[in-house]
Amino acid sequence: MTPWQASGPWLRCALHAHTTNSDGELAPRMLVKHYERAGYDVLAITDHWHRTEAPSGRVLVIPGAELNCLLPAGRDGHVLALGVDADPGELGERLDLAGTAGWIVAHGGVAYLAHPYWTGATPGTLELPAEVSGIEVYNAGCELEIGRGLSAVHWDELLAAGHACHAIAADDTHHPGFDSDLAWTWVRAERSAEAVLEALRSGCFYASTGPLLTDVRVGDGAVEVECSPCRSVTLLTGVSSGAAVHAGRLGYSYAAEIVDRTHDGLITAARLVLPETAPYARVEVVDAAGKTAWSNRVA
Ligand SMILES: [Zn+2]
Ligand SMILES: [Zn+2]
Repeated sequence: MTPWQASGPWLRCALHAHTTNSDGELAPRMLVKHYERAGYDVLAITDHWHRTEAPSGRVLVIPGAELNCLLPAGRDGHVLALGVDADPGELGERLDLAGTAGWIVAHGGVAYLAHPYWTGATPGTLELPAEVSGIEVYNAGCELEIGRGLSAVHWDELLAAGHACHAIAADDTHHPGFDSDLAWTWVRAERSAEAVLEALRSGCFYASTGPLLTDVRVGDGAVEVECSPCRSVTLLTGVSSGAAVHAGRLGYSYAAEIVDRTHDGLITAARLVLPETAPYARVEVVDAAGKTAWSNRVA
C-alpha cells in the first residue's frame, strides 16, 4: 500500500542524526530540542555503535544506532539500525550486510543502508539482503561535505534487479544548525514508534528535501501526481523508459501531460504514461529551487 492509499497523519521524520554519544556536537536532549524547534514529528537518533535514548516531547524519539558493515570489495558500509531494543556493543564486530541487518531485525529494528554513493558501493553490484528495508536515496551531510549525497542510481539498479528497496532522505546531522533540516522523510502513520517503524518496513512514506507529494495514483496505464509547485515531474521506470513533464514556455513533455499549474507556470498536477513492461515505477519531482521529493515504488 502506498502512503496515499493509507490513512493517518503525515509525520516529518529525521531518521539519521548524531549526538555527543558519538561524533555529534549536541547532547541528546539538545538535539531533540533542535528538531522540535524545526517542526519535526519524529527523530531517530543514530549514533555510531551506540544506542542513544532521549525523552520524547513534541518530537517522538526513536532510539537507534549506525553500524559499520563489510560490503563487497572490502568497502566499509554504514547501516542505520532504527528502533533497536539493544545496544549494538554486544554485536562486537563488523559483519557483512546480511549479518548486520539480521542483528537489527532480531532486535526489533529496521535496517537501512546509509549513503551508498559516499561509501563507494558500486551501482549494479550492490545486493540487498531481505533483512534490509532500503537505502538512503539522499544524505544531506554527504552532499554538503563531498557532493556524494545522492544515491538514485544505486536505487534504480536495485529496483531494476528486482530488490524490494524503499528509500529515505535524511540529514545525517553532526553540527545541527549547519547540516540539519535539509532532508527528511514523510511517514504516514500514527504517532508511535511501532507504527513509524512498520511504515519504514512497508514503504508507507516518501523522501524529500522540499517538495510535497500530495497524491500519487496509479490506474488506466498512467500515474497521476499532485504536488507542491514544481518545475518537473518524472516517472522513472527502468532503463531507457519513463515519462516526464517540465515547466516553462518551452517545457518539454515526454509521454506525459501537465494537468494543472500555478499562475507562474509551475506544475501542481501531471499525468504520466506507465510503460506496460516497466519493471518498476517511482516518481521524482523537483521544485523551482532545485529541491527534490522521491516516492517509493508505486508500481
Ligand atoms: Zn555513515
Ligand atoms: Zn551518520
